[in-house]
Amino acid sequence: MNKGKVIVITAPSGAGKTTLAKKLLADFPNLIFSVSATTRPPRKGEVHGKDYYFLSVEEFQKNIKEDGFIEWETFYNGSMYGTLRKDVEYHRENGYFILFDVEVKGAKNLKNVFGSECLTIFIKPPNTEVLESRLRSRGTENDKTISLRLERAKMELTKASEFDQVIVNDDFDIAYNQAKDLISSFMSS
Ligand code: 5GP
Repeated sequence: MNKGKVIVITAPSGAGKTTLAKKLLADFPNLIFSVSATTRPPRKGEVHGKDYYFLSVEEFQKNIKEDGFIEWETFYNGSMYGTLRKDVEYHRENGYFILFDVEVKGAKNLKNVFGSECLTIFIKPPNTEVLESRLRSRGTENDKTISLRLERAKMELTKASEFDQVIVNDDFDIAYNQAKDLISSFMSS
């Protein structure tokens, strides 16, 4: 059996990558979500082991020490996020493709690790006004966090050209179909 390849969706927060990733998972039965570990608290409705592994800082640091992460980053607010090595290897050995939803630095690190076995897709909001209104309408964060995310997002937008593919998420259905086509051809290549 061929080892599964990896697909990385990345974007500044608010570009719509998580919605896109969830729909892709529903459409590709051979695609498995890489559940990351994080030290941030769960948001309403998030489930441990499904959305994230919610770890204490001590547990997270233990994984770093034991080389349990393929990559990990400290995000804008001091929370840590990381991709666990164990799950990814297990699913790839069994022929599954793995979908990652990670921030921009993590996406670059994953590309460095997996090389041609990895497709990176950068999702771009049509402009920063749209990005801001999406972040606000989520209603999960306060003003300070939103402006920190926006600042970071503007910096991340300058990195788009460093990824294999860029999709502009203006109309969701169009963006989704583009992502689906890119992934289908990567899977069969
Ligand atoms: P959120 O707190 O909104 O769930 O995630 C914040 C950011 O961390 C998002 O851009 C998300 O894609 C990213 N992220 C989630 N898991 C990982 C991971 O394992 N590694 C890295 N580098 N970023 C991650």
